[in-house]
Amino acid sequence: MAIRGGYQGRMLRVDLSRGTVVKEALPSEDVLRRFVGGNGLGVYYLLKEAPMDVVATDPRAPFMIMTGPLAGTPAPSSSDWATVCFHANIPYAAGIGHGHGFWAARLKHAGYDGVRVYGQAPRPAYLWIDDDRVELRDATPYWGLGTRETERRIKVDLDDAENISVACIGPGGEAMLPGAMVKADRNHGAGMGSPGTVMGSKKLKAIAVRGTGRVPLATPTAFMDTVAAWEKVILASPQYSQYNLLHDAGIIRNYGTGLGDTYWVAFKNLTDPEAGRKFGQHLVEACARWRVTPQPSYNCQIRCAYDLEMTSGPFAGYRVSLCGGAANIDGAATVIGVDDPAAALVMAEYYDDMGLEASVFGGILGMVFEAYNRGWLTTADTDGLDLTWGNWQAAMALIEKAIRREGVGAKLATGLKEAAALLGEPSGLAADFRDITVHIKGDGIVMHDWRPFQGALFSLLVAGCGPAHFGHGSDHRPIAEAGYPVPTPGVADTFEETFAKVKTLPSSQFYKMWWDNLGICWFTCGGIPGTPALTAEALGHAVGWNDFSVADAVAVGERTVNALRLIYQKRGFTKRDECDYGQRYLEPAPAGPAQGKTIASWVPAMVDEYYRQMGWDVATGYVRPERLPHLKLEEFAA
Ligand code: SF4
Repeated sequence: MAIRGGYQGRMLRVDLSRGTVVKEALPSEDVLRRFVGGNGLGVYYLLKEAPMDVVATDPRAPFMIMTGPLAGTPAPSSSDWATVCFHANIPYAAGIGHGHGFWAARLKHAGYDGVRVYGQAPRPAYLWIDDDRVELRDATPYWGLGTRETERRIKVDLDDAENISVACIGPGGEAMLPGAMVKADRNHGAGMGSPGTVMGSKKLKAIAVRGTGRVPLATPTAFMDTVAAWEKVILASPQYSQYNLLHDAGIIRNYGTGLGDTYWVAFKNLTDPEAGRKFGQHLVEACARWRVTPQPSYNCQIRCAYDLEMTSGPFAGYRVSLCGGAANIDGAATVIGVDDPAAALVMAEYYDDMGLEASVFGGILGMVFEAYNRGWLTTADTDGLDLTWGNWQAAMALIEKAIRREGVGAKLATGLKEAAALLGEPSGLAADFRDITVHIKGDGIVMHDWRPFQGALFSLLVAGCGPAHFGHGSDHRPIAEAGYPVPTPGVADTFEETFAKVKTLPSSQFYKMWWDNLGICWFTCGGIPGTPALTAEALGHAVGWNDFSVADAVAVGERTVNALRLIYQKRGFTKRDECDYGQRYLEPAPAGPAQGKTIASWVPAMVDEYYRQMGWDVATGYVRPERLPHLKLEEFAA
């Protein structure tokens, strides 16, 4: 069955060392049916062509931005771009991040399905994609600029502020800090896996794109019928769906009930959930007084992202441009005890401008602030900075020191576990520092206090590309079609109840990976009944695969999860690594539904059960070789 739409059929392959750009055909239809696009196709390329023994920042390691076959089509929120590379903070993992806005649609409209970048530029460079014309340009004038100014200046210099999207790094990526992200279209960015660190290692400052074409559709009328049905179920979606939480900048109306009241706010390095609850109320009250403008991504009716102008108080006139989730506010502000809503928004904006994902540096600063407030560190250790909880100006100063690798900043720039060791060793407290560091496998979590959601808490531990939104099982955005029993939501009291949550995890991961491969925003699907069938149908009508079923979709998701595990295996993962996390992450919470409760002692058994559910070897956590043909992954056997 020939491909008649969805894909543009071309990729860009960039060699920065040689200064070349080649337009390549996409892989065969068989490969596309197996991996579809987005992170799935990126992981295929990693397995196919990347040397498995190099670190993420080695010039031989690729950096990719992939779209999917629905990106740039009339499908709901068809805006997803996935960064795929080796993980900069976890030596054995792939790193996958997701961003939205207009960049993906513009790349598709320019005629490409993705960009693969190899090598290292001799001097700062950026890639300019203008339909058929693609060239590498000097980025020296932009090196050192924040992401906001980089976007603006490149658009001005290309003389088109309206039709160009710029994906870029900031000073955090240039300095190759852990947690550096790629920003685009002001409100959006991809951070998990530290893709900005990898871009920085390649001296690639930005990829700017303008596209004037369109994405072909195999059966346009049927496609539009499916899209209409899909939009209908989004609008009718249940209370717990992302739509109902986030639409029209909903996070700043719902942060109090959705995060605060559920004790989900990561406050003071997860030591004070009660203060997090109060902050949630204050943030909502403050934002209700200020000017908020929802910002849609391409073809998005949800419009979770927003610009906000503070119209009163000491920051009156200050404008922030943020994405629609709340992990940015938690990671930039509440984790260091900022309880002033204005300062919290300023900090979130600052992280974005520096091009830093708040999960990693937020985790580092949460640890440092707690250590200071416990008296484990003094101003003698912090270059004179007073790290009393909430001192956001001192946090900014620490980040600037980290970017310059100056003083205490040089220690912070080494990463979560490494910084804890370096700071704790002089006083003999390295183990204590390690225990209070909120990390999984050395990477930052999606910054919330997940302890009231034990299923989701566990899901981050075993997510296949380091801690990430990778499918949360049944107690967080459950997927009705997954067919799992509905276990005790949130916090369970018994081992059996908690164990039951593990059984719901694989199928939620398969659906999440499937949606992530399509080039759409997950917020149009997670927790919305009907979307598994509608998304499979939409792909069929877009591409011309009219036989594509929900079972095929789930198989794509399962294949992606297993392909990521093969990368773990090939890069030296051992089962011991699965439970490499800071104790704070699983400590009993001091308040809220998880008060006094922890699943810590059950985690090893839960890991074994997860491996059993996945069909993996329980002794090693590896994909069993005999399952590779069934998964259609045999070409990647070790
Ligand atoms: S829901 Fe939010 S993140 Fe998703 S496409 Fe729309 S504006 Fe972008």
